[in-house]
Amino acid sequence: MTNNDKILVARSSMPPFEEYCEEVKELWDSHWLTNKGVKHRQFENNVKEYLDVDQLLLFVNGHSALECILETMDLGKDGRNEVVTTPFTFASTTHAIVRKGLKPVFGDIRKDDYTLDPDKIEGLITERTCAILPVHVYGNICSVDRIQEIADKHDLKVIYDAAHAFGVKRNGVGIGNYGDASTFSFHATKVFNTIEGGAIAHADESLSSKLAQWRNFGIASAEDVVYVGGNSKMNEFAAAMGLCNLRHVDSEIAKRKIVAERYFQNLKDVPGITITIPPDNIQSNYAYMPVLIDPDVCGVSRDVVFEELAKNNIAARKYFYPLTSDFACYTGMFPSSESATPIAKKVSDQVLSLPIYADLAISDVDRICDIVISSSSSVSH
Ligand SMILES: *Cc1c(COP(=O)(O)O)cnc(C)c1O
Repeated sequence: MTNNDKILVARSSMPPFEEYCEEVKELWDSHWLTNKGVKHRQFENNVKEYLDVDQLLLFVNGHSALECILETMDLGKDGRNEVVTTPFTFASTTHAIVRKGLKPVFGDIRKDDYTLDPDKIEGLITERTCAILPVHVYGNICSVDRIQEIADKHDLKVIYDAAHAFGVKRNGVGIGNYGDASTFSFHATKVFNTIEGGAIAHADESLSSKLAQWRNFGIASAEDVVYVGGNSKMNEFAAAMGLCNLRHVDSEIAKRKIVAERYFQNLKDVPGITITIPPDNIQSNYAYMPVLIDPDVCGVSRDVVFEELAKNNIAARKYFYPLTSDFACYTGMFPSSESATPIAKKVSDQVLSLPIYADLAISDVDRICDIVISSSSSVSH
């Protein structure tokens, strides 16, 4: 990529064109395009193995997976309708809770990894709480042991939004093995994609057929429809894309790692800039490159750095700003984020996600870092 091309925050991984053609060739011959065809079955099995989980189902996208697990666990049916969750996430997490008739109760995040702070959870639990829905944001792993202890003590379900965490491992254990369920996104912009797609990994085997039925209109058999389910099946072309991309995902992550390490090296000692380096026990997927710009030290706000990058044809993103609890569609529904989740508010005001993808040139990383450093140290000393 030349320096004149626009650099976006993410760039979809693509398999070699011929590999995809080869993969979908059979579909022309079979005329079987969706509804658990051969690609779907293979891919479901391959992802399950890759993530090293016991049960896994594919979905049309990560959001449908989230909605479906909330439905299938019958949350809200016993009168308990509150879900403790984080506002520092993509719209999908909070929308899924609200769209299923449940009530998000927002807990603050930790300032070192931006995940839901376990110390803040118990204070939010009431007799109406039914679940905790944390997010492994940027692929950073939540405090899974502490969260499980709290859930066990209060009889709550734990559902992780693992949309950012494909392939992440903690002490060698796949991220999909924590809590009652974890949902993944295979959207084009994620580390691993099926164009659009998603999955649920879940602990309770008895939930598998129920989830499969909810995924397909609640149909149990040709003449027996047992749930008011929607349609969230993955089609054969998406599954074929997944089969191809899965063959390359390890090398894509290895390339991301090289890019990430250059960012760490360039930015870790810059005053006023915070960059998160994964701890030793975590096998990261280097999904995002968030940095915090502290205006008290830098003398300029995150927005100034954002604009300076934009002027240079570099599209960083303010992931995640605003907090979901501050969205226009939720006006008046939740306590102010300044008082309820002050750390999340502060992080969301300071965060900037810099471009990262497998083929991002190191020279471009250096150029991006130079702009970040020069524009964030414009204060005169
Ligand atoms: C991308 C994303 C989702 C939704 O996934 P889709 O596949 O786009 O529907 C959910 N949660 C988070 C945190 C995400 O980033």
